[in-house]
Amino acid sequence: MERRARVAVIGAGPAGLCAARHILSRLEAFDPPVIYEMTDHLGGTWYYEERVGKYENGYPVQSSMYRDLRTNLPKEIMMFPDFPFDDRLPSFMHHSSVQQYLEKYCQRYDIARHIKFNTVVEKVKPVSMETETGGAVTWEVISRSTCGDQKTQTFDSVFICNGHYSDPHLPYIPGIEHFKGKVLHSHAYRYPEPFANKSVVVLGARASGVDISIELAKVNAQVILSHNRPTISLPPPLGIRQASAVVGVLEDGSLQFQDGSVTQADVLLFCTGYNFNFPFLCPSDLGLDVQDLFVTPLYKYLLPPGFPSIFFIGICKIICPFIHFDCQVKFALAVLEGSVELPTQEEMEKEVQREVQRKQDTGVQMKHLLNLENDQWDYYLDLARVGRFTPPQPVLESLFKEVSIQRQKDPQKYRQINYRLIDATQWELLEAPTEQ
Ligand code: FAD
Repeated sequence: MERRARVAVIGAGPAGLCAARHILSRLEAFDPPVIYEMTDHLGGTWYYEERVGKYENGYPVQSSMYRDLRTNLPKEIMMFPDFPFDDRLPSFMHHSSVQQYLEKYCQRYDIARHIKFNTVVEKVKPVSMETETGGAVTWEVISRSTCGDQKTQTFDSVFICNGHYSDPHLPYIPGIEHFKGKVLHSHAYRYPEPFANKSVVVLGARASGVDISIELAKVNAQVILSHNRPTISLPPPLGIRQASAVVGVLEDGSLQFQDGSVTQADVLLFCTGYNFNFPFLCPSDLGLDVQDLFVTPLYKYLLPPGFPSIFFIGICKIICPFIHFDCQVKFALAVLEGSVELPTQEEMEKEVQREVQRKQDTGVQMKHLLNLENDQWDYYLDLARVGRFTPPQPVLESLFKEVSIQRQKDPQKYRQINYRLIDATQWELLEAPTEQ
């Protein structure tokens, strides 16, 4: 590119900060980025606030963080590859340590002065442009500040880092209108005390469902964890019952489970994940199909084949998010710099289709197509090989697998374990457990 490329970054959560950090390290090729952040703070998910519902401007509160959350990944595999957490922290930290870490990251790479706080991106649209070498696309970004000023700026590329933990996914339950108790989603859960001595049915047994059930049981709520997964090993003294999925609500307000049993409850708490939501885009203009739990086609889970200068960072699930963002951002910048030659649009579309088909053939449900889990490591190797950067060290994969095993064995106590990375391939257990 003859002149330096102008890049917009939407969101100052971990993904947006990571994008900014790498753009700022390549000022020979890029102008400093413009980072739009709708709130008055950085950190995204990691900025805890008690407030739930909506901000004054009508936008939903972004963070789903709860007061006592400790990370579900150890700091050794949560960190950005070149920026370790403080050694003195336990492996599984309180969320406030992650927020502090992100603030330090921001200072270290001098990112904050490029963030436009209190500025919502309202629209992003591709604009065709004629150049000497043919057609090209630039991006018009329309933003609005809290005081109402609207501004349009034009960029060569956009990094979409708006997160996907703020639009609750609420599966429809027939008869739900008959339920007489309180219905809420984990997005609006902050701490367990209001649920003390209440009967709560928690729907969904991924990370939040299990953690919140444990928190509630500790304040003597009578918890039923309702899910379709194999039975989860939970400590018997907590008294958490497990049940099959809730399939309906009867006219008397009781909840009916898949096995036919019924129960009354004071609270129905959905821990059923979040929808993708890009309210500032017209997906079909980009050839994209955005569903609640799936977005396609994105080549390498990252870019629409017809528009290879807009990047969706971090739409995959069951990953090490910070490592994931780092690899995706490096790959995206290599594309923009021209050091990665992408296949044709048609070839990219076919590759995405093949990958979707491969997963569907092995029985993966639509809502799980973006779960990478153990496949993430080959994905990073692939991005690194094509983008010509150093891939994550093998020790990270090994520790990720170990933590998954420990979490499954004991979802209450796995966070007491501390780890240390020895070298590129080995980790060890540290003796002193963390009291909680
Ligand atoms: P976010 O952190 O959501 O940041 C998105 C940012 O974009 C926000 O600041 C938002 O205000 C801004 N934004 C959105 N729309 C606009 C707009 N239109 N204009 C301007 N700004 C906008 N990950 C781990 O690694 N370890 C864990 O232990 C862990 N625990 C988690 C627990 C919970 C309860 C949740 C919800 C998530 C957890 N995660 C964990 C995943 C976590 O979300 C990621 O670590 C990470 O925060 C995602 O970063 P992000 O930048 O993609 O999105």
